[in-house]
Amino acid sequence: MRLRISQAATEAGRPVAGIQLLAVSKTFPASAVRLAYTAGQRAFGESYVQEAMDKVEALSDLPLKWHFIGPIQSNKTRPIAENFAWVHSLDRARIADRLSAGRPSNLPDLQVCLQVNVSGESSKSGVTPEDLLSLARYVQALPRLKLRGLMAIPEPSDNPVDQRLAFARLRQLLEQLNAQGFQLDTLSMGMSDDLEAAIAEGATIVRVGSAIFGEREKL
Ligand SMILES: *Cc1c(COP(=O)(O)O)cnc(C)c1O
Repeated sequence: MRLRISQAATEAGRPVAGIQLLAVSKTFPASAVRLAYTAGQRAFGESYVQEAMDKVEALSDLPLKWHFIGPIQSNKTRPIAENFAWVHSLDRARIADRLSAGRPSNLPDLQVCLQVNVSGESSKSGVTPEDLLSLARYVQALPRLKLRGLMAIPEPSDNPVDQRLAFARLRQLLEQLNAQGFQLDTLSMGMSDDLEAAIAEGATIVRVGSAIFGEREKL
């Protein structure tokens, strides 16, 4: 996996140090995370709160950084605020309020990305590009949250040109926010099947599951 990322970085003329690998361990057991840790991996992504909490507890002896990347229900914000270093899937002001209020003051600020719906109607999650600026302003003003950038899960495509178009759209939205005075440094985009296209368009975090851990059982 690191080789795939470094080849994609070279191809894109980018330093590989600018691309972080987030290992998406959802549906895989704590033992798989422990094995990846011994191979040097520190950042892990989870999508389901209860499953994640079981792993956080089982692996509390390791210095891991947990990233929440799944849909956020408003009654599950507290365990996320208390146990995760990052949230990639913030798309509503009401959830932002709850994460801000629930973040313990003895922890560093919760690092957040806003999830943007770049594929139109086909996706239910993510703020629309039209509503992004006002949500970004709102989140930026909340205590104990640190707005870092944008995340997207484009509609799957096996055409690299279409893959790149969606990622380019997210990069342009980030550039527009920065032109409005934000200082965002994170583009969370690219998964097992499209990470090359994402890296070509500027991804700083790629979220990779099956290409590391193997195929997931269908839930
Ligand atoms: C499952 C998941 C991934 C990883 O997907 P793979 O195709 O297994 O690499 C990345 N991001 C999110 C938000 C996910 O839910």
